[in-house]
Amino acid sequence: MNGEKLYICATCFQTSATQTECHEHGLMMECQPGEPGNALRQPVKNGYGEYWNTAPRWFLEAVGWIEAGPSLD
Ligand SMILES: [Zn+2]
Repeated sequence: MNGEKLYICATCFQTSATQTECHEHGLMMECQPGEPGNALRQPVKNGYGEYWNTAPRWFLEAVGWIEAGPSLD
């Protein structure tokens, strides 16, 4: 996976360019959203071609809502 890393709090969505703690919610998650245009930046569609969540795929993978893997498109 290419691209820069970013760190985000899964609770309040505070972001940082370096690994740090959100002072209210603990250690931030490391995320790699990929280069512009990467499918990881797109929301995930269900089997009917409908978006089931508005979050980008890289976030859903980081919080463990979906498994990392090839695009579902
Ligand atoms: Zn937070």
